[in-house]
Amino acid sequence: MNKKVKKWYDYLWIWSIIYFVLGFFNILCAWLGMIDFVVPLIFAIVGHNKNFCNTYCGRGQLFRKIGNDYKCSRKNQAPSWIASKWFRYGFLIFFLTMFGNMIYQTYLVAAGATGLKEVVKLLWTFKVPWGWAYTTGAVADWIAQFSFGFYSLMLTSTIIGLFVMMLYKPRTWCTFCPMGTMTQSICKIKNDNDQVKL
Ligand code: SF4
Repeated sequence: MNKKVKKWYDYLWIWSIIYFVLGFFNILCAWLGMIDFVVPLIFAIVGHNKNFCNTYCGRGQLFRKIGNDYKCSRKNQAPSWIASKWFRYGFLIFFLTMFGNMIYQTYLVAAGATGLKEVVKLLWTFKVPWGWAYTTGAVADWIAQFSFGFYSLMLTSTIIGLFVMMLYKPRTWCTFCPMGTMTQSICKIKNDNDQVKL
């Protein structure tokens, strides 16, 4: 049987690991995570497709790799409510609210209303001191604050993704991933509009 020849984008799961390692040593690298926010939206808005999810998402690949290749997934069927509309959109609204709060905290620091907090907040609850990854004064405080907040969001979503990967199928996170839900909605609206024009 012919083995599929691997392409460069089959190795993007490595990028997901590198991202967290970089953020561990230098929190300012957290900004690189914006690539994973902007690129899927560009694919959806401009190309009307989910090619990012299907081909270029390192995080989705990472869950598959750990779950399948390293056998860390129990591969159980996830409960049906996880893929239900109310849960996916509810989680998207929750996630966007948390994202908005992170931007607001960044604004407060930029406005001088509050000081920089050198912590990473896990699961929106647990504050983990992370000061070693930042040299105070290296950049404007709001730039650093965004880094801490964004890294928290990326780490939190990965922890949840790993958790459901272990319990259920490797890519269970993808059924309710906010980026996936958002790009799916954009593609649907775009494709519906295209059909109406026809
Ligand atoms: S649903 Fe989310 S994690 Fe899964 S492939 Fe798409 S962007 Fe990546």
